[in-house]
Parts: sequence; C-alpha cells; structure tokens
Amino acid sequence: MRAPAFLFALAIAVLLPATPAAAARALVASEIRYTLRHAPGETGTAWVVDVEVRGIPADAARLTFELSGWGGAADAPGYLEALETSSSIHAAGPGRFEALLGDAPHGVVAFRYALHLPRIGSAAQRARGLLATHDDAYAFGYSWSTLVQVFVNGEPLAGKRTLTLLAPRGTPIITGWAGRGTAEQRVVLDAAMGNAPLAFGRPTHEAERSRGRFDVEVYQFGSGRDATPAVADVLIAAGPVLARQFGTAARDPYRAFITDHAGGGMGSHFGLRIGFGADQPAGVEEGEWFRAFVLHEFVHDWLGQQLVEDDSSLVWFKEGFTEYLALWTATSTGLVSREWFARRLLELESIARTRSALGQVAFGDPTVSWRDGDGPLETLAYTGAPLLALLLDVELREARRPGLPALVRDLLRREDRAYGLTTLATWFADAGLGARWQRSVLGTELPSVRELLERAGYRISADGEEASRLEDSRALDRFFAFRP
Ligand SMILES: [Zn+2]
Repeated sequence: MRAPAFLFALAIAVLLPATPAAAARALVASEIRYTLRHAPGETGTAWVVDVEVRGIPADAARLTFELSGWGGAADAPGYLEALETSSSIHAAGPGRFEALLGDAPHGVVAFRYALHLPRIGSAAQRARGLLATHDDAYAFGYSWSTLVQVFVNGEPLAGKRTLTLLAPRGTPIITGWAGRGTAEQRVVLDAAMGNAPLAFGRPTHEAERSRGRFDVEVYQFGSGRDATPAVADVLIAAGPVLARQFGTAARDPYRAFITDHAGGGMGSHFGLRIGFGADQPAGVEEGEWFRAFVLHEFVHDWLGQQLVEDDSSLVWFKEGFTEYLALWTATSTGLVSREWFARRLLELESIARTRSALGQVAFGDPTVSWRDGDGPLETLAYTGAPLLALLLDVELREARRPGLPALVRDLLRREDRAYGLTTLATWFADAGLGARWQRSVLGTELPSVRELLERAGYRISADGEEASRLEDSRALDRFFAFRP
C-alpha cells in the first residue's frame, strides 16, 4: 500500500496583517486543525472533535462553525453536542455555532463537540442513513456529516485543513483519505476538503487489486458475507476504461467501503460505500445487477464529484445519466452481457412508465424538486432519465458522433467543472441534437426503449419481453465502442 502524497506534516506561518494586501495574504495562512477521537463506550459510541482555527484574518467580524445539512446531520436530534471551548461560542441555529471574536487579538479559536452515533438499525439511524453510525464492532461515517466547516464573515475560511484521527490502541482507522492505519492517522487537505468515508474497527474482509497504474482497496465491515472480491473486480475492470473514456483518472488508490447497514450506495470525493447486509440473497454479489450498482457509484467519481451540477434541478441528469453510463460501461467492458443491458433498460422503462412522472414533467424544467423520497419525480430521475440518455446516445451515434461518454469527457475538459442546463443544451446543439433537446428535454417526447434498442442494433423477440443480439452484431460492436 503506497503512502498518499497528501500525508505529510505541515508547518504553518501565522502572518499578522497590517494592510488590506497583507490581510489577503493572511487568509492563505489560515489553518484549521481537526482532531477526531473515536470513543466507544458502555452506553454508546461518540466521536469527539476538537477544531482549532489559527490565523484568523484581522477583519474577521464573525466566525461560525457549521455542520452541513447533508443527510439531515445539522438538525438530527441528539447527534451533535457542543462541549467546552476556549472562547465564547454560542449556538446560532441547527448545527451552527458562532464565536464572539471581540476586541482580543485574533489568535486561536477552539471549539469542541461530540457526535453521538446512532446504533446501526435504530430508528434514528434509519431515518438519517448518512449520519455517522456504529454497532459493537465498528463505526462508520462521512466527513460531511462529521466535521464542522468554518466560515468567516459568511465565507468559508481559506487555507489548509489538518485532520488527526485517533482511536483506542489496536483499533484500525480506515479512511477514504489515507486507507488503513492504527492508533493515529494524519491527513492534510485543501479548503475544499470534499467528502470522505471514515471507519473505525477491524474489517471483516479486505481485498486489494492492481492493474497498470490503478490500485483498488476494498474494506468490508459487519455481518455480510465477503463481497470484497466482487466489488474489487468491478472497480479494477472499469477504472482504467473509465479513465480513458472520460479523459481523467479516478483517485488512486481508489477505496471502497462495504457496510452492513441499509441505504444503498453512496459515491464521495474519496471513495464509495456499498450497503451489503447478512440478508442479501445468495450469490447476488456475483450477479449483473450488483456489478451495475457498484459501477453506478464509481461513475459518480466523474459525474457528481469531478463534475458538479449547478443546482438540484439537475438531479435527473446526474442520477439518470450516471445510471445509463454505468450500464453502458458495464456492458462495453463485459461485466454484464448485452442481453442484460437491454433487459435492464426495458425494466427501467416499465418502472418509469408506471411509477414515475414520465410524460408529465419535462426533465429540463428548472422548477422541479426531484428529491421527493422515491416519489414519482425521484423515480423519474433514476428510471426515466436513463432512457433519455439511451435516446441521446443512439442519436449521437446515428449522427456519426462518438457517443454519450464524449459529453462527460468534454465537460471535464472545461476549466469550470460546474455545469448547468445551458452547458448541456449547448453541447447537444453543437452535436446537431438541438431539436431533439427541445422535444425531449424541454419537452416530454420519449420513444420506446424497444425502438431505441432496435436502432442501436438489437433485434427484439416477438413477445417484446426478451431482447437478443442481432445475428450480425457489427452494429452492436459499434454501439458498445467509444473512440473519442
Ligand atoms: Zn447515484
């Protein structure tokens, strides 16, 4: 296991600003030091976090510590408890604490809090599946629902973040940032920080794979049977292909976590998590559905982490196009069969046409709130938008374009890694699909999957239930190829 480049000790110079220019330089010299102590106990498990802010700009009037609203962490009852602090800090809203800087020289402001981890399977844990959680053998969480962010005058404080993770002797510490360590792990990050999985406890299963210059580490916790080889095989097969396809590589080593609490999967800036409990049907991890599921979370490393949507009106694009690109890539790499690709899209279509707002809501309507708790809109994003992606992929190829992976590749080439609806509309207009965009994104026209599969090169059997390959599969060979 190699030592990541960002694991190093950092010396910080604290500048005392005298002029506005110096104040601007002083922003760069600010530093936030987090210490996270894993504290398992008889009555429950807590993570105790110390935050020390150094190099506070002289013009700072207001300094706040804020836990993100991600996953409902900020207002989860009994989750965050403020503990003693070195300066006057008071609660200023859910998950939000304000420090009174006063007239004293702005030296160091410190804040200590505890997160009381709900037990896996408890009502509190099931209600908010992205909170840090624990059982007797391990604790698992994400940095976004664990570490408070620091804001000065309403803006995120610039500068480095140093994190020290501590655990009782003998307890492994495993994070998306730095992999596996014991007793202490130190990480240095930039101001953007990103979201990372973090775990304390001994994994029940582990797997490592290397292919070329791509390395994968998979850690499993809890009672599920060993799914690490299955997850590692998907990541190692797809990683180099996705890197070529999208023009940028995934994080290396790429780390995946498997836990036995529900909540599906979650991609993050520093690796993914898959839920896999003891109740999973025998052999499911060797099946095509599971492979595509893992690949969906992995594709989010590009579409979701490296590329970020402007706002939540693009949930349909992020989720639906991630799903389609995962299915397409799983097929092009041989992780799933061409038959399964077609069957899965027909299945998504039957769900979308019966349980979603397909045909009633335009994907490109910026006023739609997509997250309705698996209601008709969220179902449309996950099951209807992949069908739109199939339509656009088929028509790009009919227009002698390289196909849909080129969209992600081209967006990643732009300096601005954030995209909006206009960015997407412009790309499709440039590719000659402006009219299609009008009808099927700003409008609601969507041909049947059966028609689209036939245009891609499939032959559909008479009952329409099963899809099979053309006898002459050259058309499908082209459809499952990508040459940018
Ligand atoms: Zn997703």
